[in-house]
Amino acid sequence: MSDFSNPQLIDRFGRQVTYLRISITDRCDFRCIYCMSEEMVFLPRAQILTLEEIVTLAQAFVELGVDKIRITGGEPLVRKGAVGLLERIGELDGLRQLVLTTNGSQLDKSAAALKAAGVKRINVSLDTLDSDNFRRITRTGDLHQVLKGIDAALAAGFERLKINAVILKNRNHREVTELVAFAIEKDMDISFIEEMPLGSVDGHDRAAEYYSSDEIKKDLEQRFTLLPTPETTGGPSRYFRIAGVNTKVGFISPHSHNFCAACNRVRLTAEGRLLLCLGNEHSVDLKRVLRANPGNSARLQQAIVAAMAIKPEKHHFDIKAQPVIFRHMNATGG
Ligand code: SAM
Ligand code: SF4
Repeated sequence: MSDFSNPQLIDRFGRQVTYLRISITDRCDFRCIYCMSEEMVFLPRAQILTLEEIVTLAQAFVELGVDKIRITGGEPLVRKGAVGLLERIGELDGLRQLVLTTNGSQLDKSAAALKAAGVKRINVSLDTLDSDNFRRITRTGDLHQVLKGIDAALAAGFERLKINAVILKNRNHREVTELVAFAIEKDMDISFIEEMPLGSVDGHDRAAEYYSSDEIKKDLEQRFTLLPTPETTGGPSRYFRIAGVNTKVGFISPHSHNFCAACNRVRLTAEGRLLLCLGNEHSVDLKRVLRANPGNSARLQQAIVAAMAIKPEKHHFDIKAQPVIFRHMNATGG
């Protein structure tokens, strides 16, 4: 029986889970080539968690010691009621940080409301500053709209906005210094992400387009002085400061630098599955527990605590192999 007087989520390897990422929808207005196929079939509505269920689950996790929640998707801001949902999660007692990852397409309309809802930080995905290349990578996105969104978020007073950029060889690898210069100009941080093999996507050869964090770092060093910093969010990013400015540069390198030993996070998919590791299929169907035991928060918390026993030690991504993970990133909550 779990001891709920001192709630904690600790796995078999002694890692404490304090960070939950929630995908509030699998839908998106973009179709980024590394994330989705062009023709995606999205989940039927009845299969995804209701807003009410998301709040109930978030509360259960916070009561078990989670103090940071990231809302993501799909594109979280395309879900109707997303801002109201963030407001309700932001009010949970014990939650220290509510943060959001977005593609920025709706930010110009919602930045001020997100700030008022208590969102502390926003990560905006942006892989290129060239509008044609932006369209090629996102297939449907409009760079200008995203840049407007970033400006709206800065105007709303968000501190340390962060850009997330997935870098692919011959698609955008020549643009890394320009992206960092943009981050410096706007006083933002930036993280470069190595692509992860989640779901197969048509028209894109992951192994051929792999571009490592070390190569990106070398490219950046042609123009900037990167100073190592011990700063960490407890997550997979390794950070560097750029001499003379505020901007931090992070590298998320699942292939070249395994980061699992310090893993403090779990993910809740849009359909209410608790994923214990991005790179493994281990999961627990919390939607089923929730719907079978309405109003029974103790039962829900027991299921969450029990899930810690199947959190794997590490991921087994191999960019050169066929994907072993069949979920796409949008369903996962990247
Ligand atoms: N739609 C929002 C966005 O794009 O920021 C939130 C969801 S998206 C799945 C979250 C992050 O995952 C984005 O920064 C995106 O670039 C990244 N991502 C998507 N597919 C990926 C993959 N296969 N490997 C690495 N990162 C990926
Ligand atoms: Fe949509 Fe984000 Fe996936 Fe791009 S990375 S398709 S914006 S969910």
